[in-house]
Amino acid sequence: MSSVHAGSPVIADAHNHLHFRAFSRDLDDIIARAREQGVLAMLTVSIDESDAHRAIHVAGAYSGVYASLGIHPQNAGRFSPEDVLGLARLHNPGRTVAVGETGFDLYRTPESKTKQRDLFLAHISLARQLELPLIIHDRNAHEETVAVLDETQAWALGGVFHCFSGDTTLAKRVISEGFFVSVPGVITYKNATVIRQVVSQTPEEFLLVETDAPYLSPEPFRGKRNEPAYIRKTLEVVASLKGKTPENMAMITTENFNRLFLGKTAAVAARKTNPGELLCSSD
Ligand SMILES: [Zn+2]
Ligand SMILES: [Zn+2]
Repeated sequence: MSSVHAGSPVIADAHNHLHFRAFSRDLDDIIARAREQGVLAMLTVSIDESDAHRAIHVAGAYSGVYASLGIHPQNAGRFSPEDVLGLARLHNPGRTVAVGETGFDLYRTPESKTKQRDLFLAHISLARQLELPLIIHDRNAHEETVAVLDETQAWALGGVFHCFSGDTTLAKRVISEGFFVSVPGVITYKNATVIRQVVSQTPEEFLLVETDAPYLSPEPFRGKRNEPAYIRKTLEVVASLKGKTPENMAMITTENFNRLFLGKTAAVAARKTNPGELLCSSD
């Protein structure tokens, strides 16, 4: 592996599922390709308890990879609020940096809405206990999601609406509460006018970029397995909407990533992921 982007900005993938089976065969290659593109920071997001174990393992094996603790709303029928609270046992400060993904998926699993809400409330308790920010999954559920955050005053925890699918009104509400808007590869699609408007109107200090890999590949990889290296395509569109260079936008979104998940400035994170350290790979 060549020395990695000395001097050029780090890119942060704010949401992926690097520890999923989809990557188990070639994870070393996936990480190497990401690093070649400058993607040196990423958050691999868990969706149930055994999945959280795998996420933490991967985060431990590669520098710059962090994990979250959460049970996906789509898994609401199979897990209880106690299961969510039990994830506290897995907390590994510095490696597990967020709680989620949690919220509502009323597109794929509307029938379990009440159970999703119960799990969401448990995630909020967990985030309070561990003092970690929330990763929100909101699909077809803007009102429900905001209502829960309002009534529990969970905005104070900080967090992000991942794969943001709302309009500018929701974006304004989210950032007025200090939450971040995370932009997926969807923004590269021809018909993605709403998310482009959201990015145009959202101040850059509230924007993150994500792949949600293995899902939602940006153009021209649409339909294929997504991977962190492809985030560059998303970053380019976001940069052009904000009138910045991709390098500049990478710096800004990485600073945001560090502020939200690591409580650090970009300078500290860049020091942490020096090229020498990057050569050690998985165990
Ligand atoms: Zn999600
Ligand atoms: Zn996800």
